[in-house]
Amino acid sequence: MLIPDEVLVHEVKGIGPKRAKALADVGIKTISDMIYYRPRKYIDRSHVTSIAGCPIGEEVTLVVKVAEMQFVRGRKPRFILSAVDDEAELKCIWFTGANYMQNNFNIGDELALSGVVEFFSGKKQMLHPEFEFTSSSDINGSIHTGIIIPVYTSSGDMKERGLRSRGYRRLVRQLLNEVLQDLEDPIPISTINKLNFFSLSEALEKVHFPKTIAEAEEARRRLAFDEFYEIQLCLAKRKKMRINGKKGNAFKPSNKLLPMFYDLLPFTLTSSQKRVISDIFKDMYDPVVMYRLIQGDVGSGKTLIGLCAMLTAVEQGFQAALMVPTEILAEQHFLTLNSFAEALGIEVVLLKGNQRASERRKIVESIASGEAQIIIGTHALIQKEIEYQKLGLVVVDEQHRFGVTQRSALFKKGTNPDMLVMTATPIPRSLALTMYGDLDVSIVDELPPGRQAIRTARRKPDRRNAIFDFLVDQIRQGRQAYIVYPLVEESEELGFKSAVQAYEELKTGILSDFELGLLHGRLASDEKASIMEAFKLNRLQCLVCTTVIEVGLDVPNATVMIIEHAERFGLAQLHQLRGRVGRGSEESYCILISEESEENKASKGGDRLDALVANQDGFALADRDLELRGPGEFFGNRQAGMPEFKMADIIRDADLLEIARREVEFSFPEEKTK
Ligand code: ADP
Ligand code: MG
Repeated sequence: MLIPDEVLVHEVKGIGPKRAKALADVGIKTISDMIYYRPRKYIDRSHVTSIAGCPIGEEVTLVVKVAEMQFVRGRKPRFILSAVDDEAELKCIWFTGANYMQNNFNIGDELALSGVVEFFSGKKQMLHPEFEFTSSSDINGSIHTGIIIPVYTSSGDMKERGLRSRGYRRLVRQLLNEVLQDLEDPIPISTINKLNFFSLSEALEKVHFPKTIAEAEEARRRLAFDEFYEIQLCLAKRKKMRINGKKGNAFKPSNKLLPMFYDLLPFTLTSSQKRVISDIFKDMYDPVVMYRLIQGDVGSGKTLIGLCAMLTAVEQGFQAALMVPTEILAEQHFLTLNSFAEALGIEVVLLKGNQRASERRKIVESIASGEAQIIIGTHALIQKEIEYQKLGLVVVDEQHRFGVTQRSALFKKGTNPDMLVMTATPIPRSLALTMYGDLDVSIVDELPPGRQAIRTARRKPDRRNAIFDFLVDQIRQGRQAYIVYPLVEESEELGFKSAVQAYEELKTGILSDFELGLLHGRLASDEKASIMEAFKLNRLQCLVCTTVIEVGLDVPNATVMIIEHAERFGLAQLHQLRGRVGRGSEESYCILISEESEENKASKGGDRLDALVANQDGFALADRDLELRGPGEFFGNRQAGMPEFKMADIIRDADLLEIARREVEFSFPEEKTK
């Protein structure tokens, strides 16, 4: 943005300290922020009709005066505003916010209302219309000549300071008049011409004061492109710095451990695994530091890929560390690796948070001395006192569970180690491009052979008996099952309780013939480990659990998953959970039990479940999830560093993101390594 980014809003004529504060509170601190504050919508004067003449059931805009107001108490309190124009009357009704709605209006205020007009007992009304304070002069064009009027969101404080949409509009007009003449365009002119874009000043003018709605959208897209372009440029530079910067280790191909390992495997690698492994080896043989993301749906066999990389590092006399988000997962990886360790003649250790002091000391020492060649653990691996003798490769599993700081802390423990991050969260390509543009990405896009689609169904709670009969039948056939309870957000207690309670009931009830385990986050890690072990060995047929099993667990004989209160889970989480079954060659089932409540509808719980029933593919689900939730929430705690956009919408503008990346590559071609 070449609008002066450092000039604060209080330097603008008409903005004193109080207005500046009101603006700052909604994130508008500089002139640039002010100009890049995108209109929430536009009032299209060409669509303004009269109350008498407006069509029913369609979105319309009406210019009216406030004639009467009334707050109605009762079981459904509501606020009713009678609006009039020259000929007729319309009732506007608000249920939400009914008791403070009145504070917004005065009798005689002029409003532009947008909404859908409906008939209610013979009269025209609008439910929860959007409103905008306006005046006939606005609408008739004395302030702005256009027929499209921008509407801005204003906070309560802004409204009090005269910065309702109308006041804001005036300021923007004034600002644009001042700055637009000599704006420098950050996008190369060749790109602008090629893509047939507005110039920067045209775009800024038209996003606020367009002649048509289509023009406003075109202007917004141009500005959205700028945002994407800037990010892509930044990522491209970062990647270049990384490539030109640190010298990493150049590993040699493993000609001992790896061939031995392949011989020990009871299956052959999928071609997808082979391809990704060869991507990794290319990086590892190269003196440049590897920084590669492995994306692969649940069950695609990523562990094995990480293992091959680790063995290669070990053969060269380096240590390799594998960091995972939960102790259960650490334990599982340890058991897997350890089963090969003896045959391969390598030393694998497991570092946990709460090991006995003597045991821990031994492990910590073996890491420091280099005796431990492969080190597995949770973030215990990055604790201060852990020193590695020669850490050459870092693998982070389920990387979305870790923050950037944790990844880089592990990196710093090493001697310019190569880094591999693995994730089963299939990030939609558009997001991957914004967030991971500086990483190299390999995708495992194939499941091991023989896997069948997991039969997924959504059922109401009144079908529970039939569902459990089915479960019993499956267990009798030798299969194993998970029954999962949600952790309720407000109180972990609740999810925990319902799992415990269900466990007690099932154990003495319908599942009394079988061995049942209970697994939740409150158990000591030893207990968790031994329950998992028993489940793996089929000593337990059924595991009643909370989401502790969500990531990574691998028990191929488990083929049934029942998820209670399924609407309380996020889509990505459901997909992860479901990925615990369907890991062997037997037909697998996932049954989502969920009530169709109002609350559930509001939170789109049902939409998520339908998406899950309809899709097996994690990438398709991720796209759907992004649509349902929007990018802001997609990554919850923002650990992934999602940028915030002012003009761009990562879903709607996904095509622009691709174009921006292409243009950046075109203008700043990536230098070949070596
Ligand atoms: P994820 O990608 O979810 O981490 P895992 O690495 O846990 O998947 O692998 C899932 C299961 O598939 C494991 O039981 C693993 O042994 C098995 N597996 C991995 N690769 C293959 C293969 N090429 N052929 C058959 N089974 C495989
Ligand atoms: Mg895994």
